[in-house]
Amino acid sequence: MVLEVQRLIALKKYVGNFTETLRPPVEKLILPLAEVDGDVRVEGEYEIYEDDSVGLNIKICYKLKGQCSYCLEDASCNVEYSYEALFVTDRDDADNYCYNGVRLNITPAVEDAFVFSQPEVLLCEKCAQSQQE
Ligand SMILES: [Zn+2]
Repeated sequence: MVLEVQRLIALKKYVGNFTETLRPPVEKLILPLAEVDGDVRVEGEYEIYEDDSVGLNIKICYKLKGQCSYCLEDASCNVEYSYEALFVTDRDDADNYCYNGVRLNITPAVEDAFVFSQPEVLLCEKCAQSQQE
């Protein structure tokens, strides 16, 4: 999804919300044999600052399914993850995301959120329970 930053500035909409439904980026799945059941739902807030940098607060949720990491039975879990990103117009800023000051494509940040959101193990109900005991 693209935020039309210059247009939002012209409209004085310096803060706002966005939602998006994203096809799961399959190549960014970490767990072997895991897949996303359905789409990734994205909710977010943006804030445009005076220097044209844009802060994003992104929340993603989706259902992950695959094999239990312990017993290889079918397993699934609902993942919810919040992620903050800052987009700047300075191309030399290696700590943040970069955009051209006009249009901002949020996808790189959402894909990173998707990578960071994934659990290290996926457990079926039985194994998840015995873990808690
Ligand atoms: Zn299991």
